[in-house]
Amino acid sequence: MSEIIIFLGMPGCGKGTHAARLATDFGYKHLSTGDLLRAEVDNATPLGKKVDAIISAGNFVSDDLISEVVLKNIQENQNYILDGFPRNLNQAKILAPFLKEKAGKKLLGVVYLELSREVVIQRLMVRGRKDDNLETIKTRLEIYFKETLPLIDFYCKNSTVYRVNTNDDIDVVYKKILKTVKLK
Ligand code: AMP
Repeated sequence: MSEIIIFLGMPGCGKGTHAARLATDFGYKHLSTGDLLRAEVDNATPLGKKVDAIISAGNFVSDDLISEVVLKNIQENQNYILDGFPRNLNQAKILAPFLKEKAGKKLLGVVYLELSREVVIQRLMVRGRKDDNLETIKTRLEIYFKETLPLIDFYCKNSTVYRVNTNDDIDVVYKKILKTVKLK
């Protein structure tokens, strides 16, 4: 049975970087909802036009829309690292039955990258993406604490949560992830 790993953590915690590296090293496909949506915006597709202002303001696109985008990108016989989805309980509850009943995939666990709010703000301010200005960052963090953080509890009950503190150099953090998750 193919497998799924979910990456969770605040914006700027290093999710994208480490998810991509782990995916390359262990034969998973990296599925980043942020990257998918940004590509739609860059290509000015109907979906891109719909979500551009929402992303720029740091708000969430609708659960139905993002779930549809993710689920249609999940193929049979392929392992995935999900980066940026699910991001709230409703999305997690859409994903769970899909994995079990439709996609036949096993949720291996959740990699939870932890970092303080202060360090995240410093990191995002120098990253320089379009949605990395102080006002938008504050909105994204507010939504993160309200909507996304409760997922940790949810997955502690329903799966395995691997906690890794990411206040370190990239290579050190990656080694910590490998040691904690122990993929074969
Ligand atoms: P990210 O690159 O993961 O920080 O995502 C960038 C932006 O895309 C977010 O701030 C949201 O506007 C949108 N987005 C990405 N994933 C989701 C999701 N699962 N639910 C709602 N909005 C999302």
